[in-house]
Amino acid sequence: MDSALKSLVVLGSTGSIGRQTLDVVRSLRDRFRIMGLAAGRNLTALEQQVREFAPRWVGSESEDDYAHLKSALGASAPAWATMEEMASHPDVDVVVVATAGKTGLLPTLAALRAGKIVALANKEVLVMAGHLVTEAAETGHGQLRPIDSEHSAVWQCLWGENHSSISRVILTASGGAFRDRSLDDLRRVTAEEALRHPTWRMGRKVTVDSATLLNKGFEAIEARWLFGVPFRNIEIVLHRQSIVHSLVEFRDGSIKAQIGIPDMRLPIQCALCYPERLACPSVTRLDLARVGSLEFTVPDMRRFPCLRLALEAGARGGTYPAVLAAADEVAVEHFLAGRLGFMEIAAVLDGALGAHRPNGDVSLPAVLEADAWARAWAEDRVGAKT
Ligand code: MG
Repeated sequence: MDSALKSLVVLGSTGSIGRQTLDVVRSLRDRFRIMGLAAGRNLTALEQQVREFAPRWVGSESEDDYAHLKSALGASAPAWATMEEMASHPDVDVVVVATAGKTGLLPTLAALRAGKIVALANKEVLVMAGHLVTEAAETGHGQLRPIDSEHSAVWQCLWGENHSSISRVILTASGGAFRDRSLDDLRRVTAEEALRHPTWRMGRKVTVDSATLLNKGFEAIEARWLFGVPFRNIEIVLHRQSIVHSLVEFRDGSIKAQIGIPDMRLPIQCALCYPERLACPSVTRLDLARVGSLEFTVPDMRRFPCLRLALEAGARGGTYPAVLAAADEVAVEHFLAGRLGFMEIAAVLDGALGAHRPNGDVSLPAVLEADAWARAWAEDRVGAKT
């Protein structure tokens, strides 16, 4: 095999980031070879991807799904592998973690312990267990590279800079689907409305998290682990144009920003190709005069209490962020099913965080236990109400 060709595994290949990752790979066929693809429920899309990229391994949610794929693909069907097996295999160079929720955690840890480059898009992984992820990267000499647009922006601003000279990380937020709604309106909004994001087209869970601004709180927690910046030095600013993807202030007061048209293929390509910057012909160029003006405002914590709760959980640390993420997965699922109002998502998170009794243990079993406890607590809370 050509040594310049990097072997790639894409976990969550049929989701929004997974599909865009394969778009990038399509334009860089001489650099990347797809070794493994794993997906959840979208078997039709997975089958198409397998036909196109002919990976060595495939992973799906159940063995039944694999049997189905095998009968559809016949002799050309790839072997079955778990996400952890693919992520840590000696023949793999780069692992793209584009799964949703906590499913990405164990494969991420396995990949970093095995010294892989991990291009991470799954937020909950760092929110739940940032301390374990950074530890795994250190012990295994793995590399963690962000895919999320905000973190990619911060990462790019830091290329060539000394970490000790950072004074603030400023994350921008588009404000989500409901940025202009009144508190009264927010109590009545529906799942369908929440899924209409003004700028980015993403999965359902992250689109709702963007509407509550919880997503931005998650990003603040992730930034702390990705860049080793004290949590109090991470700030959030609303920026509705989504042109400035985030900023870093240095100790001399100078601020660097990364700006461009919102297009996830750019941060994905950065994460795959670093330290090289390659042409990205399909990405639209920014016309500054056409954008005209850029606005920045302070987020309203009264209308978006999920952001406040996330920042509090991040400041408390320990197992609080895991509880936040788990309760949110449950709350969002019930909101999407019409069983919970939009503003009640925050009430569920607030309740779970308030009821959580951490014992100081932040090991992986303790994090998973906090996760399971918070899910059960949130289910009970929603069940008691409906
Ligand atoms: Mg983001």
